[in-house]
Amino acid sequence: MKEPVIRFQDILEAVRGYMPEADTALLRKAYVFAAVSHRGQLRKSGTPYLSHPLAVTKTLTDLRMDVPTLCGGLLHDVLEDCEVPEAVLKEQIGEEVTQLVVGLTKTAKVSLQSTKRRRLESYRKTLIAMSRDIRILMIKLSDRLHNMRTLYSLSDEQRKRISEETLTIYAPLANRLGISWMRSELEDLSFENLNPELYEEIRRGVEEKVEAKAEVIRNVSDILEEKFREEDIPCEIFSRVKHYYSIHRKMIQQEIDLDQIFDLFAFRAIVAEERHCYQVLGIIHSLWAPVPGRFKDYIAKPKANKYRSLHTTVFGPSGDCVEIQIRSRAMHREAEHGVASHWIYKEQAGFDTGDESTFKWLRGVLNNLQEISDPKNFMDVMQLDLFPDQVYVLTPTGEARELPRGSTPVDFAYTIHSEVGDHCARAKVNGKLVPLKYELHNGDVVEILTSKTQTPRKDWLKFVKTADARAKVRAWIRKEEREQAQNLGKEILEKGLRKSGLRYAKLLKDGDFKKVEKAHRFKSLEDLLRAVAYGRLSVGQVIDALPKPEAEQEEGAWDKGLERLVERADKRSDTGVRVRGIPDIFVRFAKCCNPVHGEEIIGFITRGRGVTIHSRNCLKAQQGSGERWIEVNWDEGARVLQRAKIRVVSQDRPGLLAGLSKAIAAVDVNISQAKAWTTGDRQGVAQFEVMVKNLEHLTELIHSLEKVKGVLAVERLLN
Ligand code: MN
Repeated sequence: MKEPVIRFQDILEAVRGYMPEADTALLRKAYVFAAVSHRGQLRKSGTPYLSHPLAVTKTLTDLRMDVPTLCGGLLHDVLEDCEVPEAVLKEQIGEEVTQLVVGLTKTAKVSLQSTKRRRLESYRKTLIAMSRDIRILMIKLSDRLHNMRTLYSLSDEQRKRISEETLTIYAPLANRLGISWMRSELEDLSFENLNPELYEEIRRGVEEKVEAKAEVIRNVSDILEEKFREEDIPCEIFSRVKHYYSIHRKMIQQEIDLDQIFDLFAFRAIVAEERHCYQVLGIIHSLWAPVPGRFKDYIAKPKANKYRSLHTTVFGPSGDCVEIQIRSRAMHREAEHGVASHWIYKEQAGFDTGDESTFKWLRGVLNNLQEISDPKNFMDVMQLDLFPDQVYVLTPTGEARELPRGSTPVDFAYTIHSEVGDHCARAKVNGKLVPLKYELHNGDVVEILTSKTQTPRKDWLKFVKTADARAKVRAWIRKEEREQAQNLGKEILEKGLRKSGLRYAKLLKDGDFKKVEKAHRFKSLEDLLRAVAYGRLSVGQVIDALPKPEAEQEEGAWDKGLERLVERADKRSDTGVRVRGIPDIFVRFAKCCNPVHGEEIIGFITRGRGVTIHSRNCLKAQQGSGERWIEVNWDEGARVLQRAKIRVVSQDRPGLLAGLSKAIAAVDVNISQAKAWTTGDRQGVAQFEVMVKNLEHLTELIHSLEKVKGVLAVERLLN
């Protein structure tokens, strides 16, 4: 592997390309200074040392950096490796560049023999030094990139250590700064050095697959280009293969093999302006059906590193899943150059590192690092803060979800569906049950267990992080509180009305509350009920506003009174009882005697709970007298089942219960309850609650039971 040799001329040309007014005199001075300082030095690979700072500086021009940064790139090793005094550098090149180089030099060299602790400590120093000026970080990243590109000349051990470090710190930093190509390259180079066999396997596998799909790739490009020409939208189509490390990571995270990764390659459509992005998306979706759940609008909602694009996956011309990224030229430039693009294109004057939000973030993170005394924690914090505002978790099927940091299983549940959120009862993270307020970590596999009885709770608001979850929990609680208030209001009103001999249900049916609503200016009955619940409207006020009842007639006053005492029942025919020929009387059967159809009965008018039907033989009925006892009759046409209690006394012998239930079934009677016990004198008692059609049916049952072998007595229980 041979690196292309970079000449100073290449750098000058590159700078003029993006910054025509650049002060190349300073750049030239820095170059001469570097050349003199490194004279005679060789790299491990045997090439002249100067090739390294030149290559680093070339990368910095790719990132569109300013002149002091480029000078810093040229001179980044002179203090350390050439023992040039700081004062000399300052005098020759100036304060600004010297500060950058000093910042880089403070990034202490780590010897291979260092303990892990020492190494972590030095990462920390490095990052803290770099936090003073983001440009130091840019030089450091470019330096690291070139070192990674030329790792081959180092020992195995050195290569592995540097690669590990790159993978842990520098690749995530590049990603955090939005320089995606650098992140990919750093990751792939690290991967190749750390695990050459696996790297080669994936590389070859991907190559084969891409070759096999060459036709599809050509097809998609052709169709898209043709279509955009027709629609007169200037658009460039590129296809590219995903980088190997990201494929590897996906295979591990989702536990799948290469054959199962359908987005090995992606297309990129680059348009002139943002508005074209959505036009192009529309055209693509009209050509091929989108794969559900794969559309991402990073334009409306950019990633934390400011990445913007539209991503969609469609079922392409031959049914293959095809991923397409759509972005404008400006977005593309941002994605290539990362944070740098924001300053350069905003202020041609140079870098204002003071108020850019990314710097603020970086500086904040790095300042915090200074306060952490244990380097082990430092690594955790570092990992955390490289992605300061998001956490990636997975569904049990391996689908990634991006959530704000600090999110909980409840937040996750709402990203699946609001139903899932509303009913999420328990959560499992990596297979273990966790509390709903558990804070999710990168890579967690989250499973939500729902329950119909679970509903959002007020205390969820204390821990949910996403706006969506918060809004939905709030909405639910509001709805629930309204319903509760309505129910309470209804209850209060019902009770109050009953005291005055009025019935809520009847007033409601007659529409009498409409007048109350109008009088008190409520929009609905629900509003009225809530007002009652909150005490803003009294029952008395409701009654006063009700329409005045018609004068009570003398005749049939008893019936009227009865009607008022009892409630209407919806299922009169179910009871099979007629009370003095009045329809719709609410009837219950007394629990003491459970009268059955056909036997002589009598009704008792209760206070507000309708008429209770007793057997004439019932003790209560025999004792009772007075006005509240009324004549009732069986409705001959009704065919209903009624409850009766039977007690069977028998010898205590095996198989008796089975015999009894057989006898009961033989006369087509259903048992609704049964219990049995033995007494001291070797007798058994069984008690059944059965459903019978009428007295005749009951008698039939009793006879049937009496015939069972071992039965001593059968009696009907009235009390
Ligand atoms: Mn270097």
